[in-house]
Amino acid sequence: MNSFFIEYRDPLFSVIIFFVFVFIITFISYWWGRYRADRDIKHLDKFLKQFHTIPSSDEIKVLVKNGDLSEKSWLILAKAYSDAGEYEKSIEIYTELLKLEDNKNSKQILFLFGTTYFKAGFLQRAKTVFLEILKKNPRTPEALQYLLLVYEQMRDYQSACDVLAPLKELKEDVGTQDSYIKAMIVLNDSKLSSVDKVKSLIDIYNATNTNTHLIFEYLFKIDPKIAWQTFDVSKCEEVVDILWLIDTKDLDLDIITRNNYLRELYTARGDLNLAKSSDIFEFDILINLNSKANATLSFEYVCDNCKQVSPFAFGRCMKCHSVDSSNIEISLVKDYHRNFSEENNSFQ
Ligand SMILES: [Zn+2]
Repeated sequence: MNSFFIEYRDPLFSVIIFFVFVFIITFISYWWGRYRADRDIKHLDKFLKQFHTIPSSDEIKVLVKNGDLSEKSWLILAKAYSDAGEYEKSIEIYTELLKLEDNKNSKQILFLFGTTYFKAGFLQRAKTVFLEILKKNPRTPEALQYLLLVYEQMRDYQSACDVLAPLKELKEDVGTQDSYIKAMIVLNDSKLSSVDKVKSLIDIYNATNTNTHLIFEYLFKIDPKIAWQTFDVSKCEEVVDILWLIDTKDLDLDIITRNNYLRELYTARGDLNLAKSSDIFEFDILINLNSKANATLSFEYVCDNCKQVSPFAFGRCMKCHSVDSSNIEISLVKDYHRNFSEENNSFQ
C-alpha cells in the first residue's frame, strides 16, 4: 500500500514538484498575457474613439478661446474638415478664429471662410464674405475670382461679367472666362430669340475662337446649316460628340468630303463610304465592321488641367474651375439603342 505514496525525499517527488511549478508559471503567464492584450485593445479602442467623435460647437469655442492649439493647427483642422465634407465644423472653426482679437491673418481666414461657404453651397453667404474682403482689400484677385464663380453659380452672369473688369486691371488672364461668361449671358437670356442667340454666339466665337464645344452644341442644335458654315474643321476633335449625333439630313456633304477626319467619322457612323481605314482606333474598328456589329461610340470628358473625368460635357470644370479645358475621350461600346430599335421593329 505504501508503494503508492511517494516520500518527499524521493527524487521523483522533486521532479513532480518541478513540473507542477512549470505548469503554474506557464498558466499564470498565459492568462496574464491574455489579460494585458485585452486591456491594451480596450485602451486603444477608447483612444481611437475620440477621433471618431467630432467636437461640438461649444467645445470648439472653448478650445479656440483657450489657445491650446496654435492658429496654424486650427487652420489645418478646418481644411481637413472641409476636405472631408464636414463644412459645418470647418465654418465653426473659422468663425471662432475670426472672433479672436488682433488676428493678423483675418483676411486669409475670411477668404477660407468664404471658399468653405462656396463649397458647401451657401452662395449668398459666400458672396457676402468675398464682398467684405474686397471692401477692405479691392486688389485681391483670389477673392474676385471666387466672387465671379459665386455669381456664375447663382446664374447672375451679368454680375459675373462685371467682376472681369477689375480682374483685367489686376493683369489676370481672363481670356477664355470672358468669352465663356458672354456666351452664358446669351444662352441664358430668355428675352433673346434663338436667331439672335445664334448671331451673338457666332460673334463671340469669331472674336475669340474659344469655347468651341459650348457654342457649337447650341449652333448645331438650332441651325445646323449656319453651324457648318461657321465651323472651323480643324476643331473637329473638340466637338466629336456633337458631330457624332448630328442627324443624317443635317450633314453638309461638301464640307465632310473635303476633310479627312469628317470622312472617317461619318464612314465609321455608317452614313457614307468615304474611307477604308482610320488612324483613330475606334473609327478604324467601326469602318472595318461596316455596320455589321452592334457597336457605337461613347464619350467621356477629361479636364486638361486637373484630369477630372466627367460623363457630361462641361464649359467650366467643377473641380478646378478652369474654363474650356474639356478634352473628349472616345471609346467603343455596345449600341443599346440599335438593339432596342431592332426589338421594337420585330413586333411590327
Ligand atoms: Zn479641372
